[in-house]
Amino acid sequence: MAVLSAKLASAALAFILVAASLGLIEAREAGIGIGIEIGSRGKPRQREFDYFNLALQWPGTYCQRTRHCCSSNACCRGSNSPSVFTIHGLWPDYNDGTWPACCTRKHFDEKEISTLLDPLEKYWPSLSCGNPSSCHGGKGSFWEKHGTCSAPVTGDEYNYFLTTLNVYFKYNVTKVLNEAGYVPSNTEKYPLRGIVSVIQNAFHATPKLACRNGAVEELHICFYKDFKPRDCVVGSSSSSDVLSSSNSCPNYISLPAYASLGAGNAESKLSWVPDDVL
Ligand code: 5GP
Repeated sequence: MAVLSAKLASAALAFILVAASLGLIEAREAGIGIGIEIGSRGKPRQREFDYFNLALQWPGTYCQRTRHCCSSNACCRGSNSPSVFTIHGLWPDYNDGTWPACCTRKHFDEKEISTLLDPLEKYWPSLSCGNPSSCHGGKGSFWEKHGTCSAPVTGDEYNYFLTTLNVYFKYNVTKVLNEAGYVPSNTEKYPLRGIVSVIQNAFHATPKLACRNGAVEELHICFYKDFKPRDCVVGSSSSSDVLSSSNSCPNYISLPAYASLGAGNAESKLSWVPDDVL
């Protein structure tokens, strides 16, 4: 598998940032939706985003919801199912809690990212069988929905995915939590405050968590446009604000280990569905 070397990755990220700041890579095009401005050709376009939100998923929690399997669902890979936080998306967001989407009519083209498919399958897998919603009826919703709006910074499709992988590798949440003793467990509960402060100490920025039934399902880390970490919650530094922003989480939360799907529960029997039926 073609895993990106750290050197290549940081060189590429540096190139992207320099190229973006020099205006060498793609500029904004007309779009639709929230925060509309009128572009130079009289077409509406969405205002440029304020910051990046790297949304990560915890498969141990997410996969508990799996009812159907298909080849594209990483929850169905048995012992090869992911055991680290995986990428949900790199989202360009506004400070007011809204976000732009589908900023251009560019379509996703898998050929453009053919050299990234191995790491993407591993670290940015789908954790469900349903087709993700897309902007214009095509595949590749992540690029069309979020990547096109990130283009002022991340450039084209290839650079959007490469940048996302680079940032994910550089800010390795799973490693930071494991080193602090927050390891996957089906019995332990961990203090939300402890998890938040380990990440604050490592990245000097405050993450945001989302839970389901007391288990971590999503963890977001946020970045300025130059990819320096920043708080996900705007204008808040007090620890009570920080904790209430992760308000789907109780004070003690779990980080479930991946459990074999459907094991020991006759009612949650999985059905395998051919990909073209979905
Ligand atoms: P969910 O309902 O699973 O949280 O989100 C569904 C979809 O809405 C996500 O896959 C993502 O495309 C979009 N979305 C949800 N929250 C945010 C957000 O904070 N920022 C952005 N840019 N998109 C979001």
